[in-house]
Amino acid sequence: MADRRDFLKASLLGASAMAWAGQAMAGQTMASTSAKTKQAGGAMKPRVISTWDFGIAANQAAWAVLSKNGHALDAVETGVQVPEADLKNHSVGRAGYPDRDGRVTLDASIMDADGNCGAVAALEHIAHPIQVARRVMERTPHVLLVGDGALQFAQEQGFKKEELLTPESEQAWHEWLKTAHYQPSANSEILDYGRRDQGKGSLPGGKDNHDTIGMLAIDAQGRLAGACTTSGMAWKLHGRVGDSPIIGAGLYVDGDVGAATSTGVGEEVIRNAGSFLVVELMRQGRSPQEACREAVMRIVKRRPHASKDLQVGFLAMNREGEIGAWAIQPGFSYAVCDAAKQDGLVPARSVY
Ligand code: ASP
Repeated sequence: MADRRDFLKASLLGASAMAWAGQAMAGQTMASTSAKTKQAGGAMKPRVISTWDFGIAANQAAWAVLSKNGHALDAVETGVQVPEADLKNHSVGRAGYPDRDGRVTLDASIMDADGNCGAVAALEHIAHPIQVARRVMERTPHVLLVGDGALQFAQEQGFKKEELLTPESEQAWHEWLKTAHYQPSANSEILDYGRRDQGKGSLPGGKDNHDTIGMLAIDAQGRLAGACTTSGMAWKLHGRVGDSPIIGAGLYVDGDVGAATSTGVGEEVIRNAGSFLVVELMRQGRSPQEACREAVMRIVKRRPHASKDLQVGFLAMNREGEIGAWAIQPGFSYAVCDAAKQDGLVPARSVY
């Protein structure tokens, strides 16, 4: 997280980034952070948003699709592959930190505006789980494939089986093993993860131990889509699945309303059907930002003591292309990209 914070600070010093930040921080209202994207002629202005600073590069890849009048679904699938392939990123795709047994297991989901969706969970050895998730969506009658079955399907589809554990990630895992004090209790695990987010972590490799890329896009035809991909919590129990591949938890899209995605402690997001909740709140008339705030508050309300130490962030876009975000802790940022600006980074507001 230190790198991320430095980056965020540096980015925020740039004049252009200030414009985005200014929108996000303006006033104490919970108004949405951006103007409507509808153009005078009725067509939509495309826009893509995604979680964390690594979303900037991911957005730019998605923008290459959107700016050529491409489909939002293709844009999000393309965009999230950037952090999936980034060897410096230890929380998504290849080079992701492994579980406590040293195995890199990946979770991913994708969804379009019509409710079509596909996901993979605990998938090993496939560098781009988001591509497999899309194949699940388009080439099977199912929504979610897990573990060995997901790998078998991926190989049948022609994906190459690869080693995703890099020497650097393996070394971090060995470091963690030295002091591993594993307690299979939800609370202590959650608190540990939360502390790492606060920079108080006791586990080796404390930065970037988790963080998901969740990406939402609207294209020039007004079509919404979302994608979410992660290696999940570092040192998790083998077989643990987070919120990211669970439709309604880590990702949800409804073309009549909007889309939402999440990052942070996945168990809390699953318990509250987080992304579905954000979309339903927008359906009831909340702005994306209000909806994210309300969904965060549900988690805080259920965990009044633990919430001081854990992090969850939601990011949302409605069908007008308005955006919003909210997190439990400070430190969550999201990247915004549209015709006006391709490298926006906005610090989300938070409960604490
Ligand atoms: N939500 C992810 C998970 O629980 C991790 C993260 O975004 O930090 O697997």
